[in-house]
Amino acid sequence: MNMSSPVEQISSVDEMQRYSSEVKSKGCSVGIVPTMGALHRGHLRLVETARKNADVVVVSIFVNPIQFGEGEDYNEYKRDIAGDIEKIAKLGVEVAFTPGVEDIFPDNYRSYVEVTGLQDCLCGLFRPGHFKGVATIVLKLFNIVNPDVAVFGEKDYQQLKIVQKMVNDLNLSIDIVPVPIVREESGLALSSRNEYLTPEQRRDAASIYTALTYIRSSFRNGNTNVKKLTDIGVKILKKNNISDIDYLEIRDGNTLDEIDSAYSGNIVAAAVRLGDTRLIDNIKL
Ligand code: AMP
Repeated sequence: MNMSSPVEQISSVDEMQRYSSEVKSKGCSVGIVPTMGALHRGHLRLVETARKNADVVVVSIFVNPIQFGEGEDYNEYKRDIAGDIEKIAKLGVEVAFTPGVEDIFPDNYRSYVEVTGLQDCLCGLFRPGHFKGVATIVLKLFNIVNPDVAVFGEKDYQQLKIVQKMVNDLNLSIDIVPVPIVREESGLALSSRNEYLTPEQRRDAASIYTALTYIRSSFRNGNTNVKKLTDIGVKILKKNNISDIDYLEIRDGNTLDEIDSAYSGNIVAAAVRLGDTRLIDNIKL
């Protein structure tokens, strides 16, 4: 028996704004989970969190062209809106917001948001313009859906910090709720991009989490030297056939500033490439 309740699919920006103001006028709170679709258990954990924190849950599904750089996987990115809606229906989601690119970025589109500093390190160095694209789409979704609560995964840690800073700097009354990373049994963080991996690459990719946890154990055993800690991690990655490493760094967990000596609350963040697939992961010290 199908216990799912129907999800209302809204593609029009105006309709989404009308829907949201209507439910809010009735005193209901609105929660949003911004996604690019290709939903997996990690996304669904975010949806469950939104369900607990808001009366009405909106899952946006939009592969945002302006956060992809040249040569990245915008065209190849998996799109399966019907399958995604089936998954979120089981969690009692009210609305799937599925705008088209032309609804969000019409031809004469000219306005962008940048969170300076935070966007210029880690992934920002390897994906120029990426976080400008992220901040812009997130602010647009916030303005369209007018949520009380927005749920983001710690998997995209830099993105989370950028969104939190934007909300604070721009005085938005939105509660940002972070959700811990959901992993496979191997430790590999769930990602829509894992589907691109060959079985061998998938096995090697599990060593990203091995490297991160090894660094954390070493820190807990008293090693606070950032250079030594990251060197250990790089060695583990290389031993597992991962030599294309964009970065493996330890930084302040809030400001993302560089540090020499590690302390509790720091973030250990990594981005690596297996063939054409770029994976990111992180762990807190
Ligand atoms: P994406 O569809 O990749 O843009 O991701 C949408 C949201 O899901 C972001 O807030 C991600 O951080 C979050 N997310 C993706 N993978 C995971 C995961 N394995 N665990 C927790 N959150 C995740």
